[in-house]
Amino acid sequence: MQKVNIFWFRRDLRLQDNAGLFHALKSSKKVVPLFIFDKSILDALKDRSDARVTFLHDTISDLKSQLEGQGSSLVVRYGHPLEVFPDLIQEFDIDHVFTNRDYEPYAKERDTAVRELLAQHQIGFQDFKDHVIFDRDEVVKGDGTPYVVFTPYSRTWRSKLEEHMVGHGDERHSYYFQSYPNEEYAANYFDSAPLPLISLEEMDFTRSSIPIPSATVTRKIIREYDEKRDYPAMDATSRLGIHFRFGTISIREKARHAQRLNATYLTELIWRDFYSQILHHFPHVAEEPFRKKYDFIPWRNNEAEYEAWKKGETGYPIVDAGMRQLNETGYMHNRVRMIVASFLTKHLLIDWRWGEAYFAEKLLDFDLASNNGGWQWAAGCGTDAAPYFRIFNPESQMKKFDGKKDYVRHWVPEFGTHDYPAPIVDHKMARQRCLDAYKASLAHADEVLV
Ligand code: FAD
Repeated sequence: MQKVNIFWFRRDLRLQDNAGLFHALKSSKKVVPLFIFDKSILDALKDRSDARVTFLHDTISDLKSQLEGQGSSLVVRYGHPLEVFPDLIQEFDIDHVFTNRDYEPYAKERDTAVRELLAQHQIGFQDFKDHVIFDRDEVVKGDGTPYVVFTPYSRTWRSKLEEHMVGHGDERHSYYFQSYPNEEYAANYFDSAPLPLISLEEMDFTRSSIPIPSATVTRKIIREYDEKRDYPAMDATSRLGIHFRFGTISIREKARHAQRLNATYLTELIWRDFYSQILHHFPHVAEEPFRKKYDFIPWRNNEAEYEAWKKGETGYPIVDAGMRQLNETGYMHNRVRMIVASFLTKHLLIDWRWGEAYFAEKLLDFDLASNNGGWQWAAGCGTDAAPYFRIFNPESQMKKFDGKKDYVRHWVPEFGTHDYPAPIVDHKMARQRCLDAYKASLAHADEVLV
């Protein structure tokens, strides 16, 4: 049997400018491309017509066709990776498994177990940075410890980029933005006849009808991003979240464009790197507040209020518009994400983890690191968190960012009629209740924590 290397696709579903795939193709063995529909992840999804699974399936089908166009194919398996690899070891004489790094706690555990399993068979496992511009330990403080505040992190991020310019004296030529020319090595794919692809139905899913935003974005949107990004009625953000999540576009390519067209857009991509390294260095954030002091807040967790928030029936139009946009499209504008998250945690005193879980279920661009970072920020317990006494007033947020109420009217057509519910909570009362609860619990934390 011919010795081969495997390239295992995960959050990097593209053939162009893919770091791990590049290193696999450059190796001396033919490369067998692999994708595993991971049962551990899929079984946990509640919605059997989850739009992200439809997107994933379509993307895998497309990737497979592209590989077949090059005389190869894609091995697609459905199961738990630890059960899939023993079968692959029987089928192929594997030298190395190449892949790109994933920083989520489940993924890290899975990869450690797979690495150990492969090692028992004298098979190597190599992972590469592809999902971010700077890896977990590349942007750290002078003493080697991780940054926990964004502004100094972003300063070091940018200066590191400048240090590694190649030619031209221009940031966009930074080493960190260089593409991997996989096309040049395409002859190194393992020759294979077209292979079968499991259907959605065989995995107990049905097709979703939610449309997926395009993987391309106009220059105009990026160029005007800093001026318009805060107005939810405008189509003025890139909507690339899901593509960054699944790696159907390259972060290096988009960062290069951002560098050229709009510094604010690049800053958003830096936030993405920032939260990714926070999750890596402080994995406890996946379950608990980044700041331990915030573990004592007496959440009210009123189920009926949580339901009203989920459905977009709180009587606060900007909150309701956001939640309905999320429910119908799997997307919510960033400004509105901040408003609804603040409303849930501060006005209703519902645990940020409840909100985080609902977003995780619904967002097409759901990403554990950024979602968790956003929720902890809103609740005041995260890195860089807004101070707890800064509580968004949903009414003034609406006036400021949706003055003409175009966004609200679009998503809440009954707004202004008798059918629209009265506010479920009075703003002034809720604000004071929140201040009192946070203040008392932080004082308590000061007494019990050393
Ligand atoms: P653009 O505004 O066009 O930004 C471009 C890209 O930059 C985004 O696609 C994203 O990859 C990145 N980005 C932008 N803002 C942030 C940010 N604040 N933190 C990290 N990355 C950012 N983003 C996610 O990708 N997944 C999530 O699950 C997620 N959950 C969030 C939850 C809350 C409570 C909040 C306040 C924010 C959350 N964000 C999340 C960040 C942000 O809202 C989205 O990235 C953005 O709205 C996606 O729309 P877009 O693709 O048009 O982004």
